[in-house]
Amino acid sequence: MTVAPQFAYRGNELYAEDTPLARLAQEFGTPLYVYSRQALREAWQAYQHAAEGRNVLICYGMKANSNLGILNEFKNLGAGFDIVSGGELARVLAIGGDPGKIVFSGVGKQASEIQAALQAGVKCFNVESEAELQRLSQVAQAAGRVAAVSLRVNPDVDAQTHPYISTGLKQNKFGIAIEIAPRVYQQATALPGIEVVGVDCHIGSQITETGPYLDALDKLLILIATLADQGIHIKHLDLGGGLGIRYSDETPLPPKTLLDQVFQRLNAQGLGHLQLVLEPGRSLVGNAGVLLTRVEYLKHGEARNFAIVDAAMNDLLRPTLYDAWHGVEPVLRRDGDGNTAQTYDVVGPICESGDWLARDRRLALRQGDLLAIMSAGAYGFVMSSQYNTRPRAAEIMVDGARSHVLRPRETVASLYAGESILPW
Ligand SMILES: *Cc1c(COP(=O)(O)O)cnc(C)c1O
Repeated sequence: MTVAPQFAYRGNELYAEDTPLARLAQEFGTPLYVYSRQALREAWQAYQHAAEGRNVLICYGMKANSNLGILNEFKNLGAGFDIVSGGELARVLAIGGDPGKIVFSGVGKQASEIQAALQAGVKCFNVESEAELQRLSQVAQAAGRVAAVSLRVNPDVDAQTHPYISTGLKQNKFGIAIEIAPRVYQQATALPGIEVVGVDCHIGSQITETGPYLDALDKLLILIATLADQGIHIKHLDLGGGLGIRYSDETPLPPKTLLDQVFQRLNAQGLGHLQLVLEPGRSLVGNAGVLLTRVEYLKHGEARNFAIVDAAMNDLLRPTLYDAWHGVEPVLRRDGDGNTAQTYDVVGPICESGDWLARDRRLALRQGDLLAIMSAGAYGFVMSSQYNTRPRAAEIMVDGARSHVLRPRETVASLYAGESILPW
């Protein structure tokens, strides 16, 4: 069994929708990112179902996968976007996305990025510090514009996830401590060029329980009541992203389960009129992609067996960065090979011991075999680099039996095209 129904075996052959993955590897080479259009749609529909009849705006947390072809799917499905840089803003504008549905997050917004976002007319800046608030006010005044803001508050809740993807604890660099938020809100209302419109938080990623969200929500509701006492009335509440996906045996939290409980609390507090904003990234794209790779060599050592493949940490950083677990499936299952399976570390060709994709996997392998690294649609290609002068992989979108190139494989020459040498 694989993690997404769109990547399933027919007989012994692994398919993306109606397309054999082996054919894509043949046609486009490896390593290769392959996405399923249908899987994107179904992930979106789960949010749409949860939002039905409610005032909800889903802003795709696009840093998870920012290929224009992916963004355009979500734009056409009705999504807004959560951006974290001027570069991401440019991508949304490049596909004709509605700036009125963009929220701008991030701890280090530069003046030029703020300017571009004001120019475009984004829905809201999620402000992460007092210093940023000052800068925002100055840049907005100079531009003769008003910046709509939420403060991203740090509710100090434990998202029960990997430390690198936990963002809502006191020791994290993100957000404004919830205790001082009322004072900073007061400050914001007094600043020229600033209009307070919301309250925001984002507590972490790969969360599979409602608990951390509801803990954060309860704290935000107290803050919203305090603000109302100060005469500050907000229009929207942004609960960030963070819903988890299945990598191995996790049980993802359905968006509807979360929203039913969130709206129950909002309605109980007489806050049913607030717009709810969500910023899901991983849960919209994670299970919709795989990374195809080919076995270059098998190396049977005294201590370990290695399958050396043509994908590496530069293509998929998550294993070495977060100790992340990704399923590894053979693209062609060979009958009767079960008894020849051995325990392998699946590693890349890069000159780093941290260059691994999977460890301790029972696999029956031969040189030249194709493997699919599962659930690689989020924080996969976007984190890839050209380390070791390795061109970044191509990205393909499958739609039924058809496939579209979202991004061609880079050429080696393009990697050093902008470099120059000194006169000698
Ligand atoms: C990364 C990020 C998201 C998306 O998180 P996922 O875990 O991928 O859903 C949303 N909001 C902010 C502010 C982020 O930094």
